[in-house]
Amino acid sequence: MDKEKLLEAAWAARENAYVPYSNFKIGAAVLGEDGKIYTGCNIENASYGLSVCGERTAIFKMVSEGCKRFTALALVGGGDGDSAPCLACRQVMTEFCRSWDVPVYVCGLGRSKVWTHTVAELCPLPFVMFEKDGD
Ligand code: ZN
Repeated sequence: MDKEKLLEAAWAARENAYVPYSNFKIGAAVLGEDGKIYTGCNIENASYGLSVCGERTAIFKMVSEGCKRFTALALVGGGDGDSAPCLACRQVMTEFCRSWDVPVYVCGLGRSKVWTHTVAELCPLPFVMFEKDGD
C-alpha cells in the first residue's frame, strides 16, 4: 500500500465532511491490517460536543467492520501547514494501531508537503491496557 493511495482516499472522504459550524473539513483514511482502506470525515452537530473527527470516524468504521488494527493513517485538510490529530483521536489511535511505529501522514490544503509522524511520536506516554505487536 503506498502512501499516496491512502492520502487520496482521505482527500475523497474529506468531500463528505459535515461542517456547517466550523467549515473546517478534514478527511482521514486508515489502512486496516486486513488490507482494506477505511475512510472518515469530521461530522459536526448543533450540540458541539457531539461532533466527531475524521480520524475517529475512520477508525470506528474499521472496527465496526471487523478489523481491529490499522497499519497507517492519513489525515488531510485543515490549514496549509503541518497539522496533528486532537488528543481524543490520539488516544483512539493508541487503542487500535498495530504497533507504535505506525505512520501518520498529514497533508494540509496546499498539498505541497506530506509530514510523516508515528503514533509513538504523537503519543509519547500512551494510556493503554494492551500491549502492541513487538512489545
Ligand atoms: Zn480528533
